[in-house]
Amino acid sequence: MTTPDTAPARSQKKKGGPRSKHVPQRTCVGCRQKDAKRGYVRVVRTPEGRVEIDPTGKANGRGAYLCPRRGCWQRALEIGALGRALNVEIDPESKHTLAEYARSHFPPDEDPV
Ligand SMILES: [Zn+2]
Repeated sequence: MTTPDTAPARSQKKKGGPRSKHVPQRTCVGCRQKDAKRGYVRVVRTPEGRVEIDPTGKANGRGAYLCPRRGCWQRALEIGALGRALNVEIDPESKHTLAEYARSHFPPDEDPV
């Protein structure tokens, strides 16, 4: 006679799959740091192929995340990481806009804690 025991139903295995966690992990394309709630800023590629800041985080299109730190934005633009993440070549005008945004919104390179 086998009675279904109250054995541990499923052991929590770490699989590293994209669905193993409820909290979406963001990765800054500038410094590659992962964090779920660091206040990352979303940058989105619009259907028109433009790259814009998405303050709501809900805009349609392919998105990438950046720390609210000027250094990350500069690096992401310089090394082309942002364009790679968005799979688009960022036009000079958008680049300028993004750089300006970072310059006017974020401190030079300190942690905003
Ligand atoms: Zn960063």
